[in-house]
Amino acid sequence: MSNKQATKSTAARSSAQAIRRRTDAPQSVVPKSRGSNSKRRFILPNLGKATLEKLGKLGIHHEFDFVLHLPLRYDDETCLYPIGSAPDGEPVLVEGTIVDNAIKFRPRRQLVCTVEDDSGVLVMRFMNFYPSQVGQLAPGTRVRLFGEIRQGFFGAEMVHPKYRVVNGEIPVAKTLTPVYPATAGISQANLQRMINDTLATSELEDTLPPDMLASLRLPTFRECVMFLHHPPPSALQEELQTRSHPAWRRIKFDELLAQQLSMRIHYDRREKTNAAQMLPLEKLTCALLDKLPFRLTSAQAKVAAEIRSDLARLHPMHRLLQGDVGSGKTIVAALAALQAIENGYQVAIMAPTEILAEQHFRKFSGWLAALDISVVWLTGSLKRAQKRETVAQIGSGAAQIVVGTHAIIQDDVEFQNLGLAIVDEQHRFGVHQRLALRLKGAGSGVALQPHQLMMSATPIPRTLAMSYYADLDVSVIDEMPPGRTPVATRLVSSKRRDEVVQRVRDACIAGSQAYWVCPLIEESEALQLQTAIDTHQTLLDTFPEIRVRLVHGRLSNAEKADAMQSFQNGATHLLVATTVIEVGVDVPNATLMVIENAERMGLAQLHQLRGRIGRGAGKSTCILLYEDPLSALARERLKIIFKNTDGFEIARQDLRIRGPGELLGARQSGVPMLRFADLATDVDLLESARNCALHVLRERPEVADRHLQRWLGGKQDYLRV
Ligand code: ADP
Ligand code: MG
Repeated sequence: MSNKQATKSTAARSSAQAIRRRTDAPQSVVPKSRGSNSKRRFILPNLGKATLEKLGKLGIHHEFDFVLHLPLRYDDETCLYPIGSAPDGEPVLVEGTIVDNAIKFRPRRQLVCTVEDDSGVLVMRFMNFYPSQVGQLAPGTRVRLFGEIRQGFFGAEMVHPKYRVVNGEIPVAKTLTPVYPATAGISQANLQRMINDTLATSELEDTLPPDMLASLRLPTFRECVMFLHHPPPSALQEELQTRSHPAWRRIKFDELLAQQLSMRIHYDRREKTNAAQMLPLEKLTCALLDKLPFRLTSAQAKVAAEIRSDLARLHPMHRLLQGDVGSGKTIVAALAALQAIENGYQVAIMAPTEILAEQHFRKFSGWLAALDISVVWLTGSLKRAQKRETVAQIGSGAAQIVVGTHAIIQDDVEFQNLGLAIVDEQHRFGVHQRLALRLKGAGSGVALQPHQLMMSATPIPRTLAMSYYADLDVSVIDEMPPGRTPVATRLVSSKRRDEVVQRVRDACIAGSQAYWVCPLIEESEALQLQTAIDTHQTLLDTFPEIRVRLVHGRLSNAEKADAMQSFQNGATHLLVATTVIEVGVDVPNATLMVIENAERMGLAQLHQLRGRIGRGAGKSTCILLYEDPLSALARERLKIIFKNTDGFEIARQDLRIRGPGELLGARQSGVPMLRFADLATDVDLLESARNCALHVLRERPEVADRHLQRWLGGKQDYLRV
């Protein structure tokens, strides 16, 4: 805004304020509480089915949802400006009499009305209008308009203003006008009315006692919702928009508190159920440690100890083991498995893909064969007879460790005494699959829940862990095994693909192995496959001297396994792959990776892929090929992956760019997402909500009940597994 306009605007505002002072009719929007009914009402009274459906689209199912249907933004209709001195370029409220009204056809059909007051005149234009509006806006009618004034060829004009016909003196609004998230068929006016009705009749008493509010320095709930629905004109729109106003912070705190309470209740409830006690006898575990060609890192030793004492308890462990790709989670899982076996229990290890399951199977068999432990393998691709035999071994207890895919949780699989369930890459599984695995314990004779160890290489930023995973115990391996050389990352335009191909060949000739990854292109799986097939063919044709294999999702499991096996044992130099290699593959001699269309991939996925190399002593390089030109967002993301090697930092940045939904994966289907709080900015609120939840559950359970009743309406049982 120019200086001149600013002066004009200020002048206009003070004259308008004078008008406002004169209009002192009672304020209609501040509702009074009915105060007495303590139960939240679950039905929306007096509304038709169609309206209910539309409200449902807005997330309004219960009456209380109206209270929390908070405005997107506000219109300031508190100042009535004289037409002649109303500022341009910002929405203003003016009032005048229609002196002329005509349908014009140039440049296109439109309704044009001229509106006049003592100070000036303006034209309002409607490109879309109903025939009835022509009559409604007849000359002589007094109207109040809200919109932006622009200086057009014929002087001041407003296009499609909000308007209302006024008869007599109507006071201007004393508060900002809320603009709500709306949907077709439900107007702002409708929403405002329904929300105001609810505010007038709902129980808005605080769920938290005054002393707690004082120590948390939070305003009362009633104050906050009233303020957010109808802020005074003095409220800073900036604070409302960024949701940093104390009223917003209170709402966000309440939401986080409800989440923390429900997670914690779930956690405490689990502490009341029983699990098999597995004492650390340290026979098998020590035997394995003695045989290993390496020593545990101190991070591995620390988390192994945490798990060891969890398993020795009488209540089921639910622990999330996080560790960056290559940090060495598998051996930690193996030690946990041995503790279960020492105590006479069976162990299930479930992985999301056949390739990964097979790799675990091989690793476990290798480590445990000498200890005389029977490890079996169960996936959907087993022949029927084989499967029957394996299932029988599981049922009789002859199989001590079962490694496999989700075939493990199928109905016909019954364990004799499952004591520990390990889920690798847990975010790849849905809640129901994890639940099914847990039930395998219940069905196995003893009324005990198996302990659960969930592993994830997709690091979850602390705030996310503190909120969505608050019902789990979390262990982190925050150190890499020694002797790893950091992977160098290069960003290369696909125009220089030929050079890259040459480089891959040279590396293979020199004795290294390489991956060439054609990632999942969302629009077309077929296209992705084709890229992989073409690349494979080109490389075969160009370099007869190196051995190239292709692996992708359409191959049979046996073909896939064969290709992986041949890469693993060094017979294949170069593995062209779709993203099937994303998780868990471990080939230390592979030192080079090329990823095509890197700009289209998620950061977590890129990080996972890159983690496949740099596992041995050799210096490793990851080449990210991208298509020019890059969008700003794609550029930002590639820069993050280029600059960072720490998975946690990458995840934190990812959370900042994309929000929590993507990182949570399948888990989000079981946990309501936060609507108001933002984990990137509200860390302090999250921390105080967590402390408050612990305190309240211990000292003032009635407060917890009241709060959950309001926020979850008794649905305290967030689906937890
Ligand atoms: P991830 O955490 O990604 O599942 P893995 O368990 O597959 O990682 O381990 C990656 C590689 O590191 C494997 O080859 C494993 O044998 C090796 N490894 C694990 N722990 C150590 C250690 N303490 N010292 C050296 N190498 C280790
Ligand atoms: Mg792994």
